[in-house]
Amino acid sequence: MLLDSNLDEAKSGKRISAKGYAVAHKSDSFKPFSFSRHPLGENDILIEILYAGICHSDIHSARSEWKEGIYPMVPGHEIAGKVVAVGAKVSKFKVGDYAGVGCMVNSCGECEACRASNEQFCENGKTIFTYDCHDCFHDNEPTFGGYSNNIVVSEKFAINVPQNAPLDKVAPLLCAGITTYSPLKFSGVKKGDKVAVAGFGGLGVMAVKYALQMGAEVYVFARNKNKESEAKKLGVTKLYDSTQNVNERFDLIISTIPTKYDPMEYVNLLKNGGEMAIVGLPPVGEAVPTDLTRLVFAANKKVYGSLIGGIKETQEMMDFSLKHEIYPETEIISIDKINEAYENLTSGKAKFRYVIDMKSLEK
Ligand code: NDP
Ligand code: ZN
Repeated sequence: MLLDSNLDEAKSGKRISAKGYAVAHKSDSFKPFSFSRHPLGENDILIEILYAGICHSDIHSARSEWKEGIYPMVPGHEIAGKVVAVGAKVSKFKVGDYAGVGCMVNSCGECEACRASNEQFCENGKTIFTYDCHDCFHDNEPTFGGYSNNIVVSEKFAINVPQNAPLDKVAPLLCAGITTYSPLKFSGVKKGDKVAVAGFGGLGVMAVKYALQMGAEVYVFARNKNKESEAKKLGVTKLYDSTQNVNERFDLIISTIPTKYDPMEYVNLLKNGGEMAIVGLPPVGEAVPTDLTRLVFAANKKVYGSLIGGIKETQEMMDFSLKHEIYPETEIISIDKINEAYENLTSGKAKFRYVIDMKSLEK
């Protein structure tokens, strides 16, 4: 239960007190942390967070693997919960509704990208990420993510979730779901296409499920055979543990790999005219530079990057997932187990997605 004091704060326009788990620097472990969020604006909703997924991006960010992080840092951008207060002008939500929040909490709303609901590519550079970002709409204060008991967010950036939805399974859809759904739609995957998914973790398993739902024949590239039986159970045709000696050629390959690898090994496995969507984001400095000559000789293959998905498409993904009952493979953990989860996700011990049950924060 959200503290009554939070509701009083929301009503009286005060800052909203919050608690969660944070790291104080890139080598730190997660510890309990108290902070506050900006007051509830007229277009904002206050969400009591019930579940938060752990994305590999949280690990890259907490450890400053892409850029120097903003500390203390409360990661978490796979958020599902219940609306407990709404601003005066809110129309999309009422108190008691379920809501989700993904990787973004605001953007300019005016540029061509924002008007087309590609808020992740705001042309004015005002995409406000859910954590590890300075919020130019709120005095540049740092944003704090979902490893916490509440969040205040503009209703435009919250996703409607029906009341009967399993919220623990909904949480990872807000990043792992949209990040894999979006390139499958962008590439126009259709029945009979051969789709390969490289990296079979939290994102990878979602890519597999969506591609199967779209009628594709699906293959997986992993770095070992540990999850071969899970792949088979889902309907994957074959799991490869290497790109060597593969005779198959693919219409689309989605790479979710978060470690050092050579993307050209995958480009070379595309059919003529095939596409490779890169969503995995290895640490800066670990990326293998791509010699453009190799790309030229690979000929007529399209390689593109894909970053989450806009709010409109995220809602479409949510509705599609719930309609077809496409959910992540999850393991629920208490919040004091984040450090262990991070270890497992980097050592290869993890299966798919850890989801934090926020009730454990009360203890
Ligand atoms: P996970 O850790 O859940 O899964 C990654 C999977 O990749 C694991 O199964 C891991 O295997 C496997 N893997 C690691 N190295 C290799 C390799 N060399 N070859 C094949 N498989 C490999 O991570 P997530 O799914 O949460 O995230 C994946 C990546 O996507 C991250 O870099 C993340 O930052 C990025 N991301 C990008 C987004 C975007 O918008 N573009 C949005 C969200 C995430 P093992 O089990 O053996 O460890
Ligand atoms: Zn993510």
